[in-house]
Amino acid sequence: MLEVSPVRAFSDNYLWLIRAPDDRRGAVVVDPGDARPVEAALEQDGLALRAILVTHHHPDHVGGVQALAARHHATVFAPARERMACEVRPLDEGDVVSLADLGLEFHVMAVPGHTLGHLAYHGHGALFCGDTLFSAGCGRLFEGTPGQMLDSLDRIAALPDDTLVYCAHEYTLSNLRFAAAVEPGNVDVLETLAAVRELRARDGITLPTTLGRERRINPFLRCREPAVRAAAEAHAGTPLTGTVNVFAVIRAWKDGFR
Ligand SMILES: [Zn+2]
Repeated sequence: MLEVSPVRAFSDNYLWLIRAPDDRRGAVVVDPGDARPVEAALEQDGLALRAILVTHHHPDHVGGVQALAARHHATVFAPARERMACEVRPLDEGDVVSLADLGLEFHVMAVPGHTLGHLAYHGHGALFCGDTLFSAGCGRLFEGTPGQMLDSLDRIAALPDDTLVYCAHEYTLSNLRFAAAVEPGNVDVLETLAAVRELRARDGITLPTTLGRERRINPFLRCREPAVRAAAEAHAGTPLTGTVNVFAVIRAWKDGFR
């Protein structure tokens, strides 16, 4: 199991810091939107940054990349299909990030939807999925189509139940409120909502989640469930054919949900 710790940034971002199993001082950071808190975490634990994994091009995910890469001579791995401000190792579906000296290896998944070039990194029973899958939610469709995002989520959902999912934002509580509106009869959603409410009241971190849990509570992974389809049809006021249309309705519903 990987040793991963959250570095908080901005109002609700997590920049995940991974300890290298085979290098006592080595570390890798995922989506460093801000260099300062990463520098502080490295210094506090006496770590050396060896590599940076980028999921997509949004500023809150890449803002610290250039400074960290320059200062630590860290290799930057990033989506081949997205423009980056510094030199990177471009990655796409099926590529492998192999950091043999650190004892780390990640398989690259192309997961378009939130952005068109969005990547997820899977390895050691962990998934770093940026703004694609959140606990009880998913990313907004800034560049991709509902069909692309549904396909990306379906491929993520095919990973094992015990996969630890490291999302890039603490959106779990508001996502669960929406999940409870979609499925008011889903006991797993209601129980998780109560637990997360309590956890967030003391500023606790709700991540990582697991894919097994997400399959029970995440409406965007549950578009094929009759209850989710019925809720989408009630919201749309019309019968819906095809899972992608159910997904599109609940994604648009969530965009306007407060
Ligand atoms: Zn984003």
